[in-house]
Amino acid sequence: MNKYVERVLEETKKKNPNEPEYLQAVEEVLTSIEPVVEKHKEFEQLGILERMVEPERIITFRVSWVDDKGQVQVNRAFRVQYSSLIGPYKGGLRLHPTVNQSIMKFLGFEQIFKNALTGLPIGGGKGGSDFDPKGKSDREIMAFCQAFMTELQRHIGQDVDVPAGDIGTGAREIGYMFGQFKRIRNAYEGGVLTGKGLSYGGSLARTEATGFGLSYFMREMLKANGNQSFAGKTVTISGSGNVAIYACQKVTELGGKVVALSDSNGCIYDENGIDLDLVKEIKEVKRGRIKEYLDVHKDAKYMERTDEDSPIWTIKTDIALPCATQNEVTLNSAKKLVENGVIAVGEGANMPCTKEATEYFLEKGVLVGPAKAANAGGVATSAIEMSQNSMRYYYTFEEVDKKLDGIMTNIFKACKDSAEEYGFGNNYVAGANIAAFSKLSEAMKAQGVV
Ligand code: NDP
Repeated sequence: MNKYVERVLEETKKKNPNEPEYLQAVEEVLTSIEPVVEKHKEFEQLGILERMVEPERIITFRVSWVDDKGQVQVNRAFRVQYSSLIGPYKGGLRLHPTVNQSIMKFLGFEQIFKNALTGLPIGGGKGGSDFDPKGKSDREIMAFCQAFMTELQRHIGQDVDVPAGDIGTGAREIGYMFGQFKRIRNAYEGGVLTGKGLSYGGSLARTEATGFGLSYFMREMLKANGNQSFAGKTVTISGSGNVAIYACQKVTELGGKVVALSDSNGCIYDENGIDLDLVKEIKEVKRGRIKEYLDVHKDAKYMERTDEDSPIWTIKTDIALPCATQNEVTLNSAKKLVENGVIAVGEGANMPCTKEATEYFLEKGVLVGPAKAANAGGVATSAIEMSQNSMRYYYTFEEVDKKLDGIMTNIFKACKDSAEEYGFGNNYVAGANIAAFSKLSEAMKAQGVV
């Protein structure tokens, strides 16, 4: 291994011993950019890697709110302002009981590379809280969001840091947060949050963007490898949230047949193809569980999740799109997928494949669309939302969708070109890391020691 990369990796491990997800993300990037570091001997003296693995700022704060029983609840919240190299910090807010500093830092780190790949002027950040929105009343959600924003507002702004949605933070939560921001700041700073509702500055196609973008990226990847396409292919998609639902919609439009979706309790399998209208009703309207699909489609199957390996990856499929959460595809699951003939994996979620699973796929010749590239459509459309807010103007759905398609096509091309230039063939995991790192390191060099 390159001595400089090795040293920084070791130091990062020593400094962050209790942050496994963060170390996993750093290791994946650093080990694949070795050839770029070899080529640029000046990087070591400039401390490029050391600066890349240290967030510019981490804010941790308490959120106190009152539940429906009158009980005071306390949550821990974070905002990791990872890098402002190429634009204001930008990245989502996750509301999930598993949220901790390691997860926030890994997501912030991934975000800077992802945002660089979009070609748009956005830096990287991430935030969230260990608050669990599940089972909370609407009033409780509002109480939490207002308390959360009361503190966060002092750290963000449309030219400073622009949060968005993520797991547990959808249009409802963004709405409550935006309302509170506006109340405290007494200014209509539309571009301070993205993923807003359409009636107050949101962008058409932002809801669909991550899932649609993933599908466009996969379309390009399939085309570049033997002129394949989604047509006639079986597809399994984990999760049944924002990313999964719109990936399901676009994949179906592109000719694929989606046969499975999941949530954290288990997965459904419908060999006739998923009835997406029903899933939208269960998840977006009723906020129910995916199991309820069987109340209508009695011939579909439900498999309960019993351990860390999600049953969805035991289903035979041509293409797998993990769109739920990090490390949901273990080595065991990867082996099962390969045994069942999977040809391509597209990461809709952030870091959904463990390091071992990714390595196994690549070793077996399975095409991998890495999260940084494949799910960048969401943040790219968020940047388009910011542009519309600045212009005080709206694009039509078709205009945004066309821009998104063009961005995803370019991202795939950047991954492909970088992978080929550095001798990685069709390893787009390496290609994405190299393309993004090249841009970020250039900006870091240009801006001096800051
Ligand atoms: P949602 O909250 O809308 O949906 C998340 C889905 O994943 C739900 O079905 C949820 O099931 C499942 N899930 C969440 N946590 C776990 C877990 N620990 N184990 C198993 N299943 C789980 O989130 P999104 O669809 O917005 O996000 C999904 C992924 O995509 C995340 O990794 C996110 O960071 C990433 N992403 C999202 C973008 C966006 O624009 N929304 C942009 C880029 C990336 P349950 O209801 O049971 O919890």
